[in-house]
Amino acid sequence: MQLKTKGLVLREVKTGEADRILTILTPEHGILSASAKSSLRLKNKLFAATGLFCYSEFVLFPGKNMYIVDEATPIEVFFELRQSVEGMALAMYFAELAATVAQEGEEAESLLRLLLNSFFLIGTQKKPLHQIKAVFELRTLFDAGFMPDIVGCCECGSAETETFRFDLSEGALFCQNCAEKIGAAPNISRSQLAAMQHMLYSEPEKAYSFTLLPEAMAGLSRLATHYVCSQLDHRFKTLDFLETVLD
Ligand SMILES: [Zn+2]
Repeated sequence: MQLKTKGLVLREVKTGEADRILTILTPEHGILSASAKSSLRLKNKLFAATGLFCYSEFVLFPGKNMYIVDEATPIEVFFELRQSVEGMALAMYFAELAATVAQEGEEAESLLRLLLNSFFLIGTQKKPLHQIKAVFELRTLFDAGFMPDIVGCCECGSAETETFRFDLSEGALFCQNCAEKIGAAPNISRSQLAAMQHMLYSEPEKAYSFTLLPEAMAGLSRLATHYVCSQLDHRFKTLDFLETVLD
């Protein structure tokens, strides 16, 4: 049975002489693999719409082990992503993170929308990369069912102290006083906490609308990565390169 779906190419692996195996994130069927035969040939009808980070309308047929791409029409190819090494490295990491949390056969509409928004923002360079990164990481976890309670301190409810401890393995927040009692050093400031609350609790389209000083934003972005790695218990290959280009 033919499957017609929109989808974003998260990964491409070259096989044979000019074939590609694609990992595609779709809104209704989650992640799927598809073979795009001869798609690396310039004159092939699939060439333009099956490259890495292409968002396309696909017509797929089930094959023996995976789908086979029959038709593909580009909707958005995110050409601007390739303008900077940092932007490209970030997009690679986002794609790996999305491919890790998305499931085969399960809807992934909000994850896909978040990823498309992030790619768009990286391309337009209107938001700092650390900000795009932290929002993507936290909202992706949220989407995957990891929802930290950061409204106030998990012991006393306070959100008023100057610093806080965000426990990465529990996803729990401690105010300065309660953190001191358990001998945990603070790792976020009050303004960083406010930014984190905004990223997690606002409507998806407003999640990126906040400002934080560059150093504080970079610190929060690093914390978000530690949180992702700790919750998913996964080492992302793309992070090694990203960390060398994004400081
Ligand atoms: Zn407290």
